[in-house]
Amino acid sequence: MEQQKLETEKPVMSYSKLNTYLTCSMKYKYKYIDKIEAPKSLSLLFGTVVHNVIRAWNIGNLEPTQVKEATTAIWQEQLNKTNIENALDAIITASMDKSIELLDGYFKLDRPKPDGTELYLTREADGIVLEGYIDGIFKDGNLVDYKTSSYRWKEERAGVELQPSFYALLLDSNDLTFYFDILIKTKTPTYQLLNIHITNSDTTNTLKLVKTITQCIQNKIYYPIHSSIYCNPGFCEYYGTCYCP
Ligand code: SF4
Repeated sequence: MEQQKLETEKPVMSYSKLNTYLTCSMKYKYKYIDKIEAPKSLSLLFGTVVHNVIRAWNIGNLEPTQVKEATTAIWQEQLNKTNIENALDAIITASMDKSIELLDGYFKLDRPKPDGTELYLTREADGIVLEGYIDGIFKDGNLVDYKTSSYRWKEERAGVELQPSFYALLLDSNDLTFYFDILIKTKTPTYQLLNIHITNSDTTNTLKLVKTITQCIQNKIYYPIHSSIYCNPGFCEYYGTCYCP
């Protein structure tokens, strides 16, 4: 997916930026201010490949018999343009096989296809430009986001994620259902469909949070939190840059 370049002097906030800042403001600085290129993990690449195949399926460019061939081609395309850190060929091959198995099983579920896929949206709210890509939108305005995970999500997690209310804010909607369609990389693939209904109070609170974090960024407030559970080489691609024990 080609990233859009937004030309504006106003502050711009996406869900990804917001989530990164809340996870670790120093990570935000490395990624969005200093623009330090970090090697991608195989797990991140796995998610990108699965997203691209689901997109092709949703727009009707893929038959069930073509899943293996299409997934392999997308892996090759991604591997050619990505610097993968510490991945042996055998591990890459195992990941490719796992993604094919996961997608084959997923398409057999015959989930309803969204009416719009990978839509880039932007709108201004209180002087801040909100932007984001929506995985899928249905005719009734409800949204779906595809996730890959190594484990099952707890049911309550859908209710604490910020992404649904951020996307509702982006759509200027105070009444929508957001679905997390999760493909789980267990030995035998499993699948979860969780949802959360977003109302006015959710979007109001998220806009307040967006304004607060935008102010922190404008005031250049960045600091490392090495005590965080997210501060480890498996989760933070800047660990090698940042961590000085
Ligand atoms: S290594 Fe830790 S403190 Fe440094 S950017 Fe990553 S998460 Fe933040």
